[in-house]
Amino acid sequence: MMPVRACVGLGANLGDPMAALTSALTRIAALPTGDGLVWSSVWRTAPVDAAGPDFLNAVAMFDTLLDPETLLDALRRIESDHGRERPYRNAPRLLDLDLLLYGDRVIESARLTVPHPRMHLRAFVLAPLVEIEPRATIPGHGAARVLLAACTGQPIERIAPPAAIAPRDPAPGGTTPGNTTPGDTTPGADAPGAMAVGRDR
Ligand code: ADP
Ligand code: MG
Repeated sequence: MMPVRACVGLGANLGDPMAALTSALTRIAALPTGDGLVWSSVWRTAPVDAAGPDFLNAVAMFDTLLDPETLLDALRRIESDHGRERPYRNAPRLLDLDLLLYGDRVIESARLTVPHPRMHLRAFVLAPLVEIEPRATIPGHGAARVLLAACTGQPIERIAPPAAIAPRDPAPGGTTPGNTTPGDTTPGADAPGAMAVGRDR
């Protein structure tokens, strides 16, 4: 099987959301096939169809050899390891990981709908996606940046450059994987509106 480019949406609005996103990215980087991992800045939004405090959201993309359902299982495991509970639909959550895209595949199974059924309507998904992949398209819906422009009335704010994550294999000298720039961990370190674009490792 050829690697497939997968896209995962991360969200959290309870506890320490920034810590949850950073820790989830570290776990995604450690998936057996997380090659070519890039991730977005962290974005803040008011809850959409959900309760509780503001959300922090980010998007990660990586090549995977896992089939979609196995990848979903891995994501669910990371969620539950972060204390995710599902007391009721759209409850506040410590960590939400959604499989947004799996290459250009359209999947409708009992457990999995890809593209994620509401991603094309949500600024908190589309803004980070367009940040790391400006030409992203969503099967059945079209160009992500066009869809983002149609997301009116969804205030969203980019609050931090890409999170620093722990290196997978710490090398002497401390190189880090992914798009981490040493020292670039201060929220607002970039000029406002300047998109920090993810780089391949
Ligand atoms: P949501 O993310 O929609 O707010 P949950 O995270 O609680 O809600 O997910 C509910 C169910 O959605 C999960 O049990 C999962 O099996 C299913 N699901 C269907 N498609 C997807 C997808 N693309 N990514 C993640 N979960 C999905
Ligand atoms: Mg989910």
